[in-house]
Amino acid sequence: MNKAGDSLDSVDPATGEILGTVVNSGRADVEKAVERSRKAFAEWSGRSFRERAAVMRKARSIMIAKRNELADLIVRETGKPRLEAVLHDLHFSLDDLLYYEKNSEKLLRDEKVNLGIAFLGQKNRVIFEPAGVVAVINPWNFPFLLSFRSLVPALMAGNSVILKPSEYTPLCGVRIGEIMKEAGAPEGVFTVVTGDGRTGQYLVEAGVDRIVFTGSAATGRKVMKAASGNLTPLVLELGGKDPAIVFSDADLEWTSAGIVWSSLLFTGQSCSSIERIYVQEDVADRFIEMVVEGTKLLKVGNGMDPDTDIGPMIAPFQVENVERHIEDAVGKGAKVLTGGKRIGGHDSLFFEPTVLSDVNHDMLVMKEETFGPVLGIMKFKTVDEAVELANDTAYGLATSVWTSDLEKGKRIARRIHAGCVSVNNRAIEVKTMPWGGIKDSGMGKTSSRYGMLNFVNIKCITVDGRNRKREDWWYPYEGGKDRFFSDILPDLHSDEKIRVLKAYIKFLRGIRTDE
Ligand code: NAP
Repeated sequence: MNKAGDSLDSVDPATGEILGTVVNSGRADVEKAVERSRKAFAEWSGRSFRERAAVMRKARSIMIAKRNELADLIVRETGKPRLEAVLHDLHFSLDDLLYYEKNSEKLLRDEKVNLGIAFLGQKNRVIFEPAGVVAVINPWNFPFLLSFRSLVPALMAGNSVILKPSEYTPLCGVRIGEIMKEAGAPEGVFTVVTGDGRTGQYLVEAGVDRIVFTGSAATGRKVMKAASGNLTPLVLELGGKDPAIVFSDADLEWTSAGIVWSSLLFTGQSCSSIERIYVQEDVADRFIEMVVEGTKLLKVGNGMDPDTDIGPMIAPFQVENVERHIEDAVGKGAKVLTGGKRIGGHDSLFFEPTVLSDVNHDMLVMKEETFGPVLGIMKFKTVDEAVELANDTAYGLATSVWTSDLEKGKRIARRIHAGCVSVNNRAIEVKTMPWGGIKDSGMGKTSSRYGMLNFVNIKCITVDGRNRKREDWWYPYEGGKDRFFSDILPDLHSDEKIRVLKAYIKFLRGIRTDE
């Protein structure tokens, strides 16, 4: 990405070629977009689920028809291998479109609520109203997946949405805007504002009704602070330092292959990349050997080549972070078992997949998010030690436990401080499972009904049609009302059902009959 005043260039990280240029939106552009979005909300929120679903269905068919062109764009803008663009970005985006198209009405159906004996006869409901204008601010690593996981449920709930894609992947954002327009989203219902971090900041400050921010913990803190100005509710999906615990009873072939893939997927630039590996001492040497063998086989190259396993990193700042972590680790005694440097010279964004052993928690590579193709491996002896090491982090996004004893895996999963724990596989984000971390990994959930509820006002409606003259606890407070209620409290809250029943009857008959 190059900034050129009021515009941004999108650059292919594998070749350096400029792929296109977009507007670097200023405050006025963003405020206009929010105004248009608010106007569009009035009409869109009045549409039925069926009408909204028709737009999602059309978007799905456009994306299926254009899947090769879209995959090429994702690969060229992010550098990821084509298989990852097809599966992680396109497949999961289509999955979200289909799921919310079919299920939104059910997920947001009114709920009847019983308020208890004092309100017997009232009709009470919880209803879910669209919140208004939703801002979605995204990073560059999964430009389609991370956009669709929020825009689809937000739109299906009746909101209008403004997407701010990363400055590194603006063309994917623009293309998503074109797809939604072609699918029939009315003007202003779905808007893309391209730009750098300042554009994101203007959007946060523009008085939107909800924010879903996905990015680093450092930017997340700034967004939360800015959102507090308007008390805008927000979800923060932030970074991670995900551990994997490998027990000696694990199937080492499956585990080593799974961990190499989970660490190096998209050159390690995934929020839930495995970045810390703890292996039980008695199988450690064999496991490390298998990880090194598996890593050495990987082919680094341009993601457009169908045989490429590992593409370039997104930008120089990301490569520099990886180099800083490796240098720090080696300086403190870590061993580089394979990899460790750039491929093709100083300015190259290609980096050798790297395995480090003899690492410890004093090293940056085991503390800060590396976000690159680096696996740090450390040995442990006991279950307690493994759990302690895994939990010894500022982050809490996902964790994986690898063992052939599934009951042990489940027990350990409950002891891990994270939003998501998987046994014998990588944590994955799918439409029916809430996704989100704790601690520096963020707050709130995306995906599933839990994620969808971010996009609505949860409203209570109580209707009293009991036709009484007045409640017993209304004014005037006279005639021993306080004594009446005080006397029946022990029965009303007794453990004996018969006493409770009698108290209810007394309660319903009320104070006037008691006098
Ligand atoms: P980032 O630098 O925090 O940027 C994220 C987005 O925020 C970008 O669109 C960025 O714009 C924008 N932004 C920057 N400053 C802003 C501000 N002051 N106010 C509002 N928006 C602002 O993160 P990144 O480098 O793009 O992405 C990598 C991070 O995302 C990693 O930490 C990764 O773990 C995390 N991530 C988390 C999840 C999850 O689900 N938990 C998923 C994917 C990635 P510019 O691009 O123009 O700077």
